[in-house]
Amino acid sequence: GNPVGDPLLDGLNPRQREAVEYRGPSLLIVAGAGSGKTSVLTRRIAGLLRSREAWPSQILAITFTNKAAAEMRERVGAIVGDSAEGMWISTFHSACVRILRREAEAFGFSKNFTIYDSADSKALLKRILKELDADMFGLTVSKAANRISQLKNELTDVEGFARDANLNDPTEKKFLEVFRRYTRGLSDANAFDFDDLIGQTVYLFRAFPHIAATYQRRFKHILVDEYQDTNHAQYSLIRELTKPPTPEQFETSPGVLVQGQSNELEAASLTVVGDSDQSIYAFRGADIRNIVEFERDFPRSTVILLEQNYRSTQTILDAANAVISHNFDRKDKKLFTTVGAGDKIVGFTGYSGHDEAQFVADEIQKLHDEGVAYKDIAVFYRTNSQTRALEEIFIRAALPYRVLGGTKFYERAEIKDAFGYLIAVANPADPLALRRIMNTPKRGIGPATEAALQAWADDRGMTLRDAMRNASELGLGPKVTKAIVGLAEVLDEVMAKVETSKPADILTELLERSGYLAALRASQDPQDEARAENVDELVAVTKEFGKNNPDGTLLDFLTEVSLVAAADDLDDSSGTVSLMTLHTAKGLEYDSVFLTGVEEDLLPHRMSANEPGGPAEERRLFYVGITRARKRLFLSLAMTRAQFGEVNVAMPSRYLQEIPTELIEWKQSPGMANSRGGTQSRALNARRDGNSGGGSWSGSLRAAAAGGLPPAPPRAKTEWANPVTATVRDNGDLTLAAGDRIRHTDFGDGTVNQVTGAGPKSIADVQFDTAGRKRLLIKIAPIEKL
Ligand code: ATP
Ligand code: MG
Repeated sequence: GNPVGDPLLDGLNPRQREAVEYRGPSLLIVAGAGSGKTSVLTRRIAGLLRSREAWPSQILAITFTNKAAAEMRERVGAIVGDSAEGMWISTFHSACVRILRREAEAFGFSKNFTIYDSADSKALLKRILKELDADMFGLTVSKAANRISQLKNELTDVEGFARDANLNDPTEKKFLEVFRRYTRGLSDANAFDFDDLIGQTVYLFRAFPHIAATYQRRFKHILVDEYQDTNHAQYSLIRELTKPPTPEQFETSPGVLVQGQSNELEAASLTVVGDSDQSIYAFRGADIRNIVEFERDFPRSTVILLEQNYRSTQTILDAANAVISHNFDRKDKKLFTTVGAGDKIVGFTGYSGHDEAQFVADEIQKLHDEGVAYKDIAVFYRTNSQTRALEEIFIRAALPYRVLGGTKFYERAEIKDAFGYLIAVANPADPLALRRIMNTPKRGIGPATEAALQAWADDRGMTLRDAMRNASELGLGPKVTKAIVGLAEVLDEVMAKVETSKPADILTELLERSGYLAALRASQDPQDEARAENVDELVAVTKEFGKNNPDGTLLDFLTEVSLVAAADDLDDSSGTVSLMTLHTAKGLEYDSVFLTGVEEDLLPHRMSANEPGGPAEERRLFYVGITRARKRLFLSLAMTRAQFGEVNVAMPSRYLQEIPTELIEWKQSPGMANSRGGTQSRALNARRDGNSGGGSWSGSLRAAAAGGLPPAPPRAKTEWANPVTATVRDNGDLTLAAGDRIRHTDFGDGTVNQVTGAGPKSIADVQFDTAGRKRLLIKIAPIEKL
């Protein structure tokens, strides 16, 4: 914008300005992608602070990721300076953890509770299902986990479920018992799972109105981004927070009297922004109705629509508009921009996932040569399994990249072990952490000993940790007794310093005194060297945390880490291309976007195709992907896709057909075309490493075997067009044998090494004279026998 203008209102269009300046009970901003919803929310906060209408402590802003929260905080800070400090800008989960840490004691938890991630929840469930022989009833860990999560998102507790369930059905009865034990297991461990963080906060507010009043009086402005993806529990939390406190509550609410805490019985002002076309979390209970019914729930609300898009070119918007218009039950809105048509969308059909990845890498290199920074480029995909081919090619091409939410540092075994030690000293009631570290490193405490300890504890109504402390009473062997008591002592001694020591010091002491690091270092297993490095990396993370949070306790550190979401390891993405799933891409924007795997079974995903609302939700996901791009959009697919150890013939996504053909320019595609294209693909092939392309072939070729391939394209056709309307080549009954010479349209001449498989699944292993060794599906490869 204009550097001399007002940073608050500068450059805003009239509707945006109205949204920033609105004052009143409730405001709904509905608008398509890139129309400035998040920007407007940010400026609203800055406006409230700058005019001193609100103290920072009176503002609660909810974002979808921690990363988005940090960005918003920074932008507000840039406008109003220091007065942005003390604001709650965070995700739903982080805000609830803060509330629960303060208030947990009111309902029988203590503030040092552990937060179970989904792996922890599943570990607990696994034990319970085993205890109950639940697999006889077809209950698997993931089924039970999903169902419990769903119930919690609907705020249904064990009693509520018992009331409504059909308990004549033995499976339902069994599930009820699982749900009950799981709930008890969490509270015995002084732990909350992810869904609890929100559900239990709602419960807290409803059960203890004076506690609710503390927060109702505190937050005078509540703002929620990405409102279309709130679930029932999150919606209820907002409802609780925006109720006016009653006079009775007022009397009994001790409240933390913060600066400017209101003495009035006035409800908080609520602003929500969202786009129902971008609702992509129905599988996690997100409910589009929350946005549709906003006006009913908040009767005095004002609605503002934004239509101008400031992110993308008109070509990209036309594609997005066209695709999303195929969804029913939506308010039609057309995004427009004033920046002009821009470049055409580039389409590419690769022979395999590797071939597609090679195209992506080559185009990225080209963009980079043109001056586009790597950090302004992103590659999206529907499933994590698609990263493998991309990464292989990127590594070979020496392209700097980073996989968001993919590496999962915190899910590595050695990191989980280290956290096991930290949690064991932060929350001694948690048996999961103890079990994890009991015999790691090996101390001779086997599963039988652990079971004996647990049984002994259960008999006496004690925790596992108490049983360890008293292990000498169990009559176990002297060596194992010594090991158990020794570990308990180390944990107790370190625990005594938990409130006062820095997380880095606590971790270092635990790793040393437990012998964990020494065991890794002494190991002959070469993997353990890498593991030790990862643990060192974690120590570095705790030190960094200490630097940024001089007063930060171990509990603060654990809280922060347990809330790291996929999009949060974006930091430090300077200078790298970002790879992420479409779900992670929400809310972000990049100059150039590669949307890969635009195929049936991937997009829409195979799992969603038969679910009610599934294909519509997948279309929204595609829409989210398209609208992340500022200038350049690349849509790519492959003819064959290796997944789950199988190679399948892929078909173009049905959504491709929904984009007007004139918006896409299809590049010549190796393996599909009958004729050679422009210099583009030749240059591309010339650069291709001899061993790349072709992919690895194994297993069955489902669609090919089923004869599901369309007929051969007309021979005369020279221009390869949109693969949706064009057809896939079919070599019919071409039979090849070892020693045959063939010609490939892209790889040139070569000699067949061997042929495997039969009929339409036959694969030729070919040594090309210049292009290296490839494996080709004979039926569809662009080859002829010489
Ligand atoms: P999404 O639906 O993807 O979350 P959004 O509606 O939140 O998008 P923003 O991210 O706020 O949109 O804005 C998109 C882009 O447009 C950003 O780069 C933002 O800085 C820019 N932008 C927003 N409003 C204006 C404006 N009035 N003038 C210029 N640029 C703007
Ligand atoms: Mg946004």
